Amino acid sequence: MAKRGVLIVTGGSRGIGAATCRLAAARGFAVVVNYAANEAAATALAGEIEAGGGRALAVRADVGSEPDVLALFEAADRFGPLAGLVNNAGVVDAPARVEAMSLDRLDRMFRINLTGSFLCAREAILRLSLERGGPGGTIVNVSSAAAKLGGAGSYVDYAAAKGAIDTMTVGLAREVADVGIRVCAVRPGIIDTEIHASGGWATRVAEVGASLPMGRAGTADEVAQAILWLLSDEASYSTGAILDVSGARAILP
Ligand code: NAP
Repeated sequence: MAKRGVLIVTGGSRGIGAATCRLAAARGFAVVVNYAANEAAATALAGEIEAGGGRALAVRADVGSEPDVLALFEAADRFGPLAGLVNNAGVVDAPARVEAMSLDRLDRMFRINLTGSFLCAREAILRLSLERGGPGGTIVNVSSAAAKLGGAGSYVDYAAAKGAIDTMTVGLAREVADVGIRVCAVRPGIIDTEIHASGGWATRVAEVGASLPMGRAGTADEVAQAILWLLSDEASYSTGAILDVSGARAILP
C-alpha cells in the first residue's frame, strides 16, 4: 500500500500527530511515528497501521536533541526514501504570566517547539532537495492560532514559539521553492487532544468549547485532513501557505 515514500511525523504517537499518521498511511505513505516518551502509544499506533495493510515504524527521538534528530532521520532512511516531514511535536507548559517564567521553562518551550522544527527541517531538506539529488517533497509545520492571539496570561512563550514557526514557514518556503520543496503550515485552534491535560488544564476543551465561534473545539482528524491536503499533489502551487484550521478562532491578521 505504501507507494508514496516515507513521511516522518514528529510527535506522531498521539493527538493531531496520530490522526495524521493514520490518514497518511491510508493515503499510501510509509509513516515514521516519532514519539518522545510514550512508547506504548507509538508502538500500538504503528501496529494498528501495519495490521491495516500500511507501513509504519515507531522511533523514539526528542526533537529538541540534535543527536536524537539525526538518529530519527537515519532510521527513516533505512525505512525508505523520504517524501515529507510533518513538524508536529509540540508542548505547552502550565498557564503562567511572563514574569513567572523560568529560564528552564523558556529553554524547553523554544527547544522543542521551535529549534526542533528547524533541526528536522534541515535534515529533511538535505534529503529532499533536487539540488542534492533528492526527489523534492513537502514540509508541513504545525503552528497554532496562539501565534496570532499571543497567549496573554497563560502561554505567551508557546504563542511566541508558534509565531516564529509561521515566520520560518514563509522564509523557508521561499528559500527552497526552487529545489522542489514546498513548506506550508496549519494553524489549529483549540483541538480536543491530551495537550491541554499535559499543560495542567485538563478541562480546557470542556470549559471553552461552547464559547468558540463554531460552538465546539476541533478534532485531531479535522487538522489531519488539512495537513494531508497540503502534503498532496492537489496543493502543488501552495507553498509558504499557512492554513487556519481553527473554526474561525483568530482568523484576522
Ligand atoms: P499531544 O496530544 O499532547 O501529543 C503530543 C505529541 O508530541 C506526542 O506524540 C508526544 O510524544 C510528542 N512529543 C512531545 N514532546 C516531544 C519531543 N520533545 N520530541 C518528540 N515528540 C514529542 O499534542 P497535540 O494537541 O496533538 O499537538 C500537536 C501539535 O499541534 C503541537 O505542535 C501543538 O502545539 C499543536 N497545536 C495543538 C492544539 C490543540 O489545541 N491541541 C492547538 C494548536 C496547535 P509522547 O507521547 O511520547 O510524549
